[in-house]
Amino acid sequence: MTSLIATSLDSQDIPEPSSVAGKLNLLGLSREALVDFFAEMGEKPFRAQQLMKWLYHRGVSDFEQMTDMSKALRTKLAQVACIIVPEIVVQNYSTDGTRKWVMRMPGGSSIETVYIPDGGRGTLCVSSQIGCAVDCSFCSTGKQGFNRNLTAAEIIGQMWIAAHSFGSRDVSSERYVTNVVFMGMGEPLLNYGPVLNASKLMMDDLGFGIGKRRLTISTSGVVPAIDQLGDDTDVSLAISLHAPTDELRDVLVPLNRKYPIAVLLAACQRYLDKLPDKRKITIEYTLMKDVNDSPEQAAQLAAVLADLPVKINLIPFNPFPNSGYERPSRNAAMRFSKILQEAGHIATIRTTRGDDIDAACGQLVGQVADRTRRQERWKQQHDQAAGL
Ligand code: SAH
Ligand code: SF4
Repeated sequence: MTSLIATSLDSQDIPEPSSVAGKLNLLGLSREALVDFFAEMGEKPFRAQQLMKWLYHRGVSDFEQMTDMSKALRTKLAQVACIIVPEIVVQNYSTDGTRKWVMRMPGGSSIETVYIPDGGRGTLCVSSQIGCAVDCSFCSTGKQGFNRNLTAAEIIGQMWIAAHSFGSRDVSSERYVTNVVFMGMGEPLLNYGPVLNASKLMMDDLGFGIGKRRLTISTSGVVPAIDQLGDDTDVSLAISLHAPTDELRDVLVPLNRKYPIAVLLAACQRYLDKLPDKRKITIEYTLMKDVNDSPEQAAQLAAVLADLPVKINLIPFNPFPNSGYERPSRNAAMRFSKILQEAGHIATIRTTRGDDIDAACGQLVGQVADRTRRQERWKQQHDQAAGL
């Protein structure tokens, strides 16, 4: 069985730069690392700026097209470095503006990335891992088990593909992706270093210039990593709570047995205290019929969250085959929301978008060819580990 997941950050905070055939992949390198890279080639720091503008603003991944660098430098770059972006295997654009990509990663597994436009904003939902070890009982990603962490290049690569899918020549002057949420596959805080590095590039002006309030890391509650995050950056934080009591949350989110609700909410308060501005924690609460959607549970939730500045996102459960859970009625969701509001909370019911392309956030299942086999393999390993 899972050991409720080792959460040491030590082994994870030094991301491996990815290299392909001995060449360093420049995608995903921090600004500082790029400056060092050029310094080793005997080049000035402004080369890092030039390269980032080509790569992130203009979406150019071929050194040959970076025409403000000399021919000799471009040739040298091509000899020692490369720019590898994820390979797109499925690209679906919905009639409501939602876009979804399935991207194949080295090793053969696939991940999904979803773009959801809404009025003036465009939110990109990115994946941080292939599969997930947390194994929440209602999550299709959890059911796949854990395959591996994504590198910073693979995370920023999702942004690169989405941002440059609109045909704009320079995304720094014409922004379609205005917000990023780590709500795709995986538990971002169990892939700390690469998620942090990719987030910094997303926020960097020479990267994608996303505002810190508009970048949200969603976590099932990895408490030591929340504390670390507060020391390292000031992005927005979302907590997948889903239950008002430890008894129920232990079942829905097994990590709760390691970091129970009170411990988790205390970490959220510490996180807010470190921020330079006034912000709220987003609480995600997936509503499941007859599991966590009763009026009593709404009242309990309102009380549990009474002392923390929060806004509550109610997400009607997105069904998937054999999940064992059901979506509550519209009425039950409204009633739940109303109780929270009457207790003084900000609560909204998240509408499902992109249904026609299976792109609803939290439903990142994908029509991936090797999925079934992977699931079977995982189940075998899981059963073996559990001594079944
Ligand atoms: N691992 C992180 C981020 C990815 S999950 C986390 O758990 O926060 C993104 C959100 O989708 C989480 O709030 C998760 O609980 C929710 N989710 C997962 N499966 C879902 C489903 N079938 N229906 C609705 N929401 C779901
Ligand atoms: Fe992992 Fe989040 Fe799914 Fe839980 S809800 S299994 S933490 S991806």
